[in-house]
Amino acid sequence: MTDFPFENRIWDSAETAPRAELERLQLDRLRGLVSRLADVPFYKNAFAEAGTSPEDIRSLDDLRRLPMTTKDDLREHYPLGFLAVGRDKLARIHGSSGTTGKPTFVAYTAADLELWANLCARFLVAGGLRPEHTAQIAFGYGLFTGGFGLHYGVEKVGAAIVPAAAGNTQRQLTLMCDLQTDVLVCTPSYALTIAEAAAAAGLEPRDLPPRFGHFGAEPWTEDMRREIESRLGLLAFNNYGLSEVIGPGVSGECALRDGMHVQEDHFLIECLDPDTLEPVAEGEQGELVITTLTKEAFPVLRYRTRDIARLDRSPCPCGRTTARMSRVVGRTDDMLIIRGVNVFPSQIEEALLHVEGTAPHYMIEVDRPGTLDVATVRVEVREQDFSDKMSQMQALRDRIDREIQSITGIRMSVELIEPQTLERFVGKAKRVIDHRVTDSS
Ligand code: ADP
Ligand code: ZN
Repeated sequence: MTDFPFENRIWDSAETAPRAELERLQLDRLRGLVSRLADVPFYKNAFAEAGTSPEDIRSLDDLRRLPMTTKDDLREHYPLGFLAVGRDKLARIHGSSGTTGKPTFVAYTAADLELWANLCARFLVAGGLRPEHTAQIAFGYGLFTGGFGLHYGVEKVGAAIVPAAAGNTQRQLTLMCDLQTDVLVCTPSYALTIAEAAAAAGLEPRDLPPRFGHFGAEPWTEDMRREIESRLGLLAFNNYGLSEVIGPGVSGECALRDGMHVQEDHFLIECLDPDTLEPVAEGEQGELVITTLTKEAFPVLRYRTRDIARLDRSPCPCGRTTARMSRVVGRTDDMLIIRGVNVFPSQIEEALLHVEGTAPHYMIEVDRPGTLDVATVRVEVREQDFSDKMSQMQALRDRIDREIQSITGIRMSVELIEPQTLERFVGKAKRVIDHRVTDSS
């Protein structure tokens, strides 16, 4: 018998459909999608070039014969060249947050918004949200999909919402304590910022009302989860999504928190080698490529997310039959190549969280002063561990140095800095300054 930390509730019976039934539904929907896409100029051309037509889709494997879509394709058709319905059918337009350059827009019909709310409701309920709860949403409300996506998901479940929005951390604490919010929704880095502010205000984890946290929108590690949980006194859940696909709601953890269930009745997911674009072996790490099966306004075919993760198709004891994706290790465009070695910022986070005495606040700077890359990690030391003794600080620096080397395989120069000197984030954290890129462009 599996032990659930709380009641294992399922929002939609589709989440537990037998695989064969799910796959029939996917094939049916894929065929429908391909005929709908034939009216979108980009796909019409791509189908013509590849010589594919909707009748060629006889099995789910035929997906591999269909063309892919990249972020650059979306940019080339800026602002709304990928619309598959008339403007009169649109109900909302959002934008990606522009983490990697010029933002792109995505659009929704009323049916898309209804679907989106239900998909968010699925993972929220899986992660403990109940109609009697009050949820504090500390995500940005605006073009970014996080705020509105989660807002309507919570509303769908029937819980009360405190639409706090991101920022004003002192007020977040006041709202949390005065309104007794049960659930906190934000980015993991903002959760940590809130935790720090709580500690600075003399609040103990047990004084903080939220019992569940739903965090996403940026990569974070298992160590970071533990850190947030112990500092805020809650159970933290991971959820994943991207605006080009729908926003949050693509996948999320169940009570067992062993991978995020992908909502496969609405999204086909592939895990490919980013160089060869061939599927990786089952359970191996690769780039996620996602096809939206049911979205009306802005469907995408084989969208290259640039997110690196693993897929696990083994059954989960919670009863959901959908594949689970691992944490996102990083995005291919975040990946630093330092002296030929691939490094993700999440590896630095992992290293720092293994070393007692550092706050997981860091910034990685990479430069190439001569012919060799030089990486510097600037790390904040925790207040109570900051010392005037050179020898103590040197020992701490050596520990971090060794840990980074053991996780990434390369040496980086470690610079310890005083507590509270690095920028705090209310949305997605920015951890890398790559002078090799910025100084040459
Ligand atoms: P942008 O690409 O401008 O950041 P979005 O706001 O749509 O646009 O962000 C989507 C991206 O955020 C994903 O592609 C992924 O890289 C990241 N992301 C979202 N949720 C998670 C998560 N739970 N873990 C790791 N990364 C995530
Ligand atoms: Zn599960």
